[in-house]
Amino acid sequence: MRIVRLEVCDVRFPTSRDLDGSDAMNPDPDYSSAYVILHTDGALKGYGSTFTIGRGNNVVCAAVMAHEHLVVGLTLEEFMASPGQVWRRLNGDSQLRWIGPDKGAVHIAMAAIVNALWDLYARFEGVPVWKLVSCLTPEAFVACVDFRYITDAITPEEALALLRAAEPAKVARIKELEEKGYPAYTTSAGWLGYPDDKIRRLCREAVAEGWNHIKVKVGRDRADDIRRLALIREEIGWDRKLMVDANQVWEVPEAIAWMTELAPFKPWWIEEPTSPDDILGHATIARAMEPLGIGVATGEHGMNRILFKQLLQARAISFCQVDSCRLGGLNENLAVLLMAAKFGVPVCPHAGGVGLCEFVQHISMIDFTSVSGSWEGRVCEFVDHLHEHFTDPCEIRSARYLAPQRPGFSTEMVPVSVEKFQFPNGSVWAS
Ligand SMILES: [Mg+2]
Repeated sequence: MRIVRLEVCDVRFPTSRDLDGSDAMNPDPDYSSAYVILHTDGALKGYGSTFTIGRGNNVVCAAVMAHEHLVVGLTLEEFMASPGQVWRRLNGDSQLRWIGPDKGAVHIAMAAIVNALWDLYARFEGVPVWKLVSCLTPEAFVACVDFRYITDAITPEEALALLRAAEPAKVARIKELEEKGYPAYTTSAGWLGYPDDKIRRLCREAVAEGWNHIKVKVGRDRADDIRRLALIREEIGWDRKLMVDANQVWEVPEAIAWMTELAPFKPWWIEEPTSPDDILGHATIARAMEPLGIGVATGEHGMNRILFKQLLQARAISFCQVDSCRLGGLNENLAVLLMAAKFGVPVCPHAGGVGLCEFVQHISMIDFTSVSGSWEGRVCEFVDHLHEHFTDPCEIRSARYLAPQRPGFSTEMVPVSVEKFQFPNGSVWAS
């Protein structure tokens, strides 16, 4: 089966109108998708996407099309034979590499293509992506990963040993996932723009729905954070885990001072306390948080496996928040899962936005069946927005992601939604 056409659609949802997704750094996001369709000479198509928050989505769409010469003509058989080599080819075009490498619009554009290739592969095999990867042999799994620049942290041989150790219990874990699903947490209650009565109502609803891990936004106003966290603790009690997310707004000393004041509310982690590129800054914050019992979490703006390597080597994070579309698609996520397992840091993927929940459920499930072998101390993010635009939306029951059953990566969009929300000519924007 050969890819004959690469198509990309600029799809944007006007979420800023209701302040959904508002935080200290991003007050008015319009959740958007650079949505990729791989057309083949057969009956199947592959669907993938990457996430942005509005303006600039067109730049990412242009970056997707800049890969056209690497995608059109590629056969599914080539990808299946060596996903790692195809990844490296997509990532290694020397002219495109100049506007990266491994970062920025060109890298997240590549993620959309890579994820579409995995979707196509899984559709061809008639299984969901998580199960496809779970059923790979350790050797085939290792062949998905480009170890370039990370062999000082993990070698292919070490990765193989780690995967082989997880192998005997894999079948039982697949069964367990299909019965119980994967633990999740909710971010739906605590966007910064929401008024108090809405936060209280959403917290009460979250408790009633069985959520035991709840994350809220902080970082705009210290006194206001203290007031909001007090009312949130009133609603959710002290047994549930509460996580806070500053979305990169603080200086390093400011993060330490601010979080010391929020420590009485017992946050489980502080997410993105400062610049996503500041590895040593995160390490400094992590050392200061240790006596307070607060972990440092980051990764949703973690651009590549090299940055994650350094975060792990510097012991800068207690929770590793991979992103399905910020890293270069599934292959690079697998590289980070392997490193996190080696360093003993739990992976709690970033989600929300549009399509990210659909993607990351697969990643957490692969981590459980094949890499870390555990969901202890791990939760996968869930945000209850925009799932109605997907043909196979993620499903939550009792605060767990149910294991997807349909073939693919769960991110094919409903065609009517693509048409209606296409920017700038879809009916939602044209009016
Ligand atoms: Mg976040």
